[in-house]
Amino acid sequence: MIKKSLWVFHLNSGSCNGCDIEVLNIFAPRNDVERLGIKLVGSPRHADAIAFTGPITRECLPKVIDALTAVPDPKVVLAIGACACGGGIWYDTYSVIGGVKELYKILREEYNIEPPATVFIPGCPPKPEAIIYGVAVARGMLEKKQRKQVYIEPEESVVEEKARLESLLMEAEKTRHFLPKLEVRRV
Ligand code: SF4
Repeated sequence: MIKKSLWVFHLNSGSCNGCDIEVLNIFAPRNDVERLGIKLVGSPRHADAIAFTGPITRECLPKVIDALTAVPDPKVVLAIGACACGGGIWYDTYSVIGGVKELYKILREEYNIEPPATVFIPGCPPKPEAIIYGVAVARGMLEKKQRKQVYIEPEESVVEEKARLESLLMEAEKTRHFLPKLEVRRV
């Protein structure tokens, strides 16, 4: 069923470990996502996706950028937990730059790097089910990116679609659900 396993590099960018425990939880026997091909890898160079837990601290920022750029394209970021999504309760503290959005601002403005597609998984910490769902969404996004298909609507089908919509509109006008046009009658 799964065409390609999703390999994830997990990076604690400043987490309290609450989110990390939930990440490990999805690999425990109860959920065991390895049976679905989802696997943690030890190097970002081997990964399809990178999972951040915790806010991004100033100390971690260079390592976060190194790891993110080391993941080969096409890649997906998983922002796991309120802290990774937006800084959480630490968002304006002195040693924290914020969540992945602030990281992306720095990437754009200072490194001229366009941020990758990101799945936000909020919660403090998010439930294992939410993390599994987020990973599944990331898997779907990667599949589309890997295909790299460009779909251009052929001219005829646009004309056909327009005719179909017009006929549907005419049919709808005949039903009682369609709002009648107001008629002004002179008495
Ligand atoms: S979201 Fe909550 S559990 Fe996760 S790192 Fe932040 S404070 Fe800890």
